[in-house]
Amino acid sequence: MKLVMKFGGSSVANGDCIKKVAKIISDYNSQGNELVVVVSALDGVTDQLIEASEEAKKGNLNYIREFIQKIRERHLNTIKDAIKTESLKEEVSKIVQSIIEELEKVLIGISYLGELTPKSLDYVLSFGERLSAPILCYSLLDIGLSSKFFSGKDAGIVTDSNYGEARPLINLTKYRVKQKLEPLLNKGIIPVVTGYIASTQEGFITTLGRGGSDYSATIIGASLKVDEVYIWTDVDGLMTADPKIVPSAKTMPEISFQEAIEMALFGAKGLHPRALEPAMEEGIPVRIRNTFNPENPGTLIVNEKKIDKGKIVKAVTLIKNVSLISVNGAGMVGTPGTASKVFDVLGKNNINVLMISQSASETNISFIIKKPFLGKAMSALEISLLGQGIVREITAEEDICIIAIVGAGMRGTPGVAARLFNAVAKKGINVIMISQGSSEVNISFVVKEKDGEEAVRAIHEEFGLSK
Ligand code: ASP
Ligand code: MG
Repeated sequence: MKLVMKFGGSSVANGDCIKKVAKIISDYNSQGNELVVVVSALDGVTDQLIEASEEAKKGNLNYIREFIQKIRERHLNTIKDAIKTESLKEEVSKIVQSIIEELEKVLIGISYLGELTPKSLDYVLSFGERLSAPILCYSLLDIGLSSKFFSGKDAGIVTDSNYGEARPLINLTKYRVKQKLEPLLNKGIIPVVTGYIASTQEGFITTLGRGGSDYSATIIGASLKVDEVYIWTDVDGLMTADPKIVPSAKTMPEISFQEAIEMALFGAKGLHPRALEPAMEEGIPVRIRNTFNPENPGTLIVNEKKIDKGKIVKAVTLIKNVSLISVNGAGMVGTPGTASKVFDVLGKNNINVLMISQSASETNISFIIKKPFLGKAMSALEISLLGQGIVREITAEEDICIIAIVGAGMRGTPGVAARLFNAVAKKGINVIMISQGSSEVNISFVVKEKDGEEAVRAIHEEFGLSK
């Protein structure tokens, strides 16, 4: 088989982890598979780079000095633990040292300018993966495999210039990636490509958004028309619920792209929201696997047609740290443009809306945003909406959470919502807001934060998700 294997930050957190990863790659290689490896930064490094950029912007040279020291030590120690052969250790240490020197110069540059643009931030963020890829590549050489490392840019991933959340120019990318990587596969060389980073057509480094290595993996997979994309992480797969809330939660063996996308959007952390698109378009199955339990087959994400529709509801997720805003006023009835004004204000302030509902009486529009944006949203809405005789009041509720249930089998199945809300009502839990998209793959509703976990357990039980 031709496979893309992506390893996340926790899979390459240190030298021992990297050895496990190298072993997995070697096993799949010796079974005769053609492999492209995509790798994230060592666990936590991207967050540290963001912090360092902010300190650099403040001109904090001491912080930069200490940070560079720490990051150098961590990567050199990782090399020591992951790689045995002295000459390889030396070679890759030199590569890493020179990348870190470049990083130090960039941070010092930012500190002198006192300015951090999205473009320069992307440049800084690229260093996490630029450092991890050579280390993984050399750990493959260390166990006798042939390998070469590439940045996403050098592998041919081209994007627009929307720094921080760049979108691939997919046709150009497919062409370039194929040209770049296929000759290596034909020679039995395993390319190790940095996840997350790409470049504009002019060659400036971009990033694909947080968690973007998954996206890199599916972009490369689609370009090479591989048989499957494996996302190696630190859990057995996608689960029916958070096991911390529902101890009997199970790993789902199989789920459709659309279900997985609805889950990823609703905070089932781990997957980049757009990561599945390239694979879905090409019909390439994506498998979530556990680096630390490679015997487990994980969760397979495939086209819906190939899936058994036995289970109506597949999973239930809880989203915390959100707030509800209601815009009320009888003047809104029959007044076109109110909703557009509300969402226009939010959009202009860069505030993302997670969930929307409007009653048919039109006297109320409610929506959910992430809690940290509440203050900004309230003041922006008050300034632009109050005092015109249309909106009477704008209220907020902070102690709430969203519960979302996902399952393609809900489409066209009557009675699911009744069962759902019955199960919640039996626990004496009040439902504050409800929304179902016309895709019918997801029903979301809002309850008090204190009721969230109990509601999740009740739903998990009602739909028999542990079985
Ligand atoms: N290192 C990047 C991040 O932490 C990309 C990734 O891990 O997928 O967001
Ligand atoms: Mg990461």
